[in-house]
Amino acid sequence: MERLLADCVNFAQRLIRTPSMPRQETALAELVANEMRSQGFDEVWLDGLGNVSGRIFGHDRSLGGLVLNSHLDHVDPGDLSLWSFPPYSAEIVDGTILGRGACDIKGPLAVQIYSMVGLLRQGQRPRRDVIFTGVVEEEIGGAGAIYWTENLDYPVDLIVLGEPSSNHISLGHRGLLQIWVTFSGRSVHASVPLAGANPNFALSIFLNRLKKKQGELESHPLLGPTTVTPTIIEVDTVSMNVTPAWTRVLLDIRTATESPKSLQSFVRKVAEDLKPAISDAWAPEPGTPLPESDEKIFGYYTSPDSEIVGKVRQILNRGMGWEPELSSYQFATDGRHFIPCGATIIGYSPGEEDLAHTVKERIAIDMMADSLRGHMQLLREF
Ligand SMILES: [Zn+2]
Repeated sequence: MERLLADCVNFAQRLIRTPSMPRQETALAELVANEMRSQGFDEVWLDGLGNVSGRIFGHDRSLGGLVLNSHLDHVDPGDLSLWSFPPYSAEIVDGTILGRGACDIKGPLAVQIYSMVGLLRQGQRPRRDVIFTGVVEEEIGGAGAIYWTENLDYPVDLIVLGEPSSNHISLGHRGLLQIWVTFSGRSVHASVPLAGANPNFALSIFLNRLKKKQGELESHPLLGPTTVTPTIIEVDTVSMNVTPAWTRVLLDIRTATESPKSLQSFVRKVAEDLKPAISDAWAPEPGTPLPESDEKIFGYYTSPDSEIVGKVRQILNRGMGWEPELSSYQFATDGRHFIPCGATIIGYSPGEEDLAHTVKERIAIDMMADSLRGHMQLLREF
């Protein structure tokens, strides 16, 4: 186990030292493919979009596969002066690996692959086929996951996401959609504002009411409260001395308790007498299906009562020596793109969610060790 963990940590460091921004994942995909080849995986292949996969055969090849999924890309490190360490050096300090991608998702990716290596080194086989899949472009909408799902040609029973879950089991996240709310007025020269009707004032009333009424939205017991968050504000004018004819705000909505229809009525209720134009709700990322207008919206959601979840929880308990909790993600994941596969989807990963996308990104090596044991037990028993 010592040797396996050391090799896994070394692999995670090499992954972090190979930057892989969205659409620039080729070098990383090659690194992952070569590692799987050199560690004796039964099959390794790249698909037409640059996703990389590797398989080890199980004892019973008639069972649906177990997929361990990570993405290959990461977000930009941003302003380097805000980092207290170089983002791509993968230094180890106080038992943690530091760097962009350490917890989201290269540390977990290394654990997924080395759990498969661990079995091979012990001369064991998993119960069923295990397939590692590293997909491209998760951080910019999930084109890699969508392509993988559309081209899937083998049965899959369980998909494990490597998105940071602190070694707990994440059962889903809220769905994501957006609505534009547009306020119209009458544009005039800014020197004579009373001659026109400035829609910015209606917008400000709307935003104040929206803040107060957030609490009226429902909360899902596991996935959390619905949030409606103003992000972008636009006006028609580009002249500094002209009042706008219209001003609009984009609402970023995360929900597991509302439908597109009920969200539109909520926005209409908040706006009341202001009577803005309210757009249809739409999914902000290409390929994300939006449910029928009165169906509730989920990113992905696996019931805590599912038989597979209960079984996986016991197996991970045996592997790690402690029982993982059932939790959920705040952020969206590729999990939602895997729904058409019909497999059970869970997150299980040694990364910590609140370190993802930050300048403090890191992963604790002892959490990687726990997760290696959990994953290896899952491979043997599931
Ligand atoms: Zn991620």
